[in-house]
Amino acid sequence: YGSQVALDGVNFTIEPGCLAGLVGPNGSGKSTLLKVILGLMRPWRGEVLVFGRAGRPEQGRVGYTPQSELVDWSFPVTVFDVVLMGRYGRVGLVRRPGKADREVAVQALERVRLMDRAKRQIGELSGGEQRRALIARALAQQADLLLLDEPLAGLDATAQHDLLKLLHELQGEGKTLFVATHDLSCVAEEFDHAVLLNRHV
Ligand code: ADP
Ligand code: MG
Repeated sequence: YGSQVALDGVNFTIEPGCLAGLVGPNGSGKSTLLKVILGLMRPWRGEVLVFGRAGRPEQGRVGYTPQSELVDWSFPVTVFDVVLMGRYGRVGLVRRPGKADREVAVQALERVRLMDRAKRQIGELSGGEQRRALIARALAQQADLLLLDEPLAGLDATAQHDLLKLLHELQGEGKTLFVATHDLSCVAEEFDHAVLLNRHV
C-alpha cells in the first residue's frame, strides 16, 4: 500500500480439501492476503497459483466472505437476494437470474439452515446468521475454494460452534476452506493446518 509493505516473504501451499486457518493479530495482513488470492489485488513480486494456475481465478470458483464489520447490513435487501447475488458472476449483469439460479440459491440457503429467514431483511439477522448468509452466497456461486475473512469474530460460543460445524461439513463435501481468524486456540483445536501470519508467514 504505497510505501507500506503489508506482506513479505509469504510462501505456503494449501492442499485441496483442507480446512486451513489463517492466524495473525490485527494488521498482520490477513485480509490483504485473502484479497491477493482472490485476485482483487496483485502482488508487486511473486506469484499466486489458484488451482495450480497463475492469473485471475476462473469466475465463480473462489468464494469470499468479507469481514463482517465492513459490510453495510442496513442495505435494503432480503437474505434471499443476498444469496442470489452469488449467481451474478455466472449469469452476467444483463441477464436476470432464472429459475435454475433461484433453485441453486434455495439449496444454498437450506445448506446453511437459513431457509426460514429467506424473506427477512439481511440486517434483521443475528451475527451468526449473517455470516451463514454470506457463506450461502459463496455456495450459490458453486465455489470450490472458500476464503472467509474472520467469520468467527464477535460471535457468542453457540454461534461459533454452529459455524465451525458448518465449516467441517463443507470440508466433508469436498470444499477447500481458508479461514482468517485471530483466535489461535480455535484453529489449533478445529483446523487441519494453520498459516501463521505477521507480515511474514
Ligand atoms: P488484518 O486483516 O490481518 O488485520 P490487513 O490486511 O487489513 O490486516 O492490513 C495489513 C496492513 O496493511 C496493516 O498495517 C494495514 O494498516 C495496512 N492496510 C490495509 N489496508 C490498507 C489500505 N487500503 N491502505 C493502506 N494500508 C492498508
Ligand atoms: Mg482483516
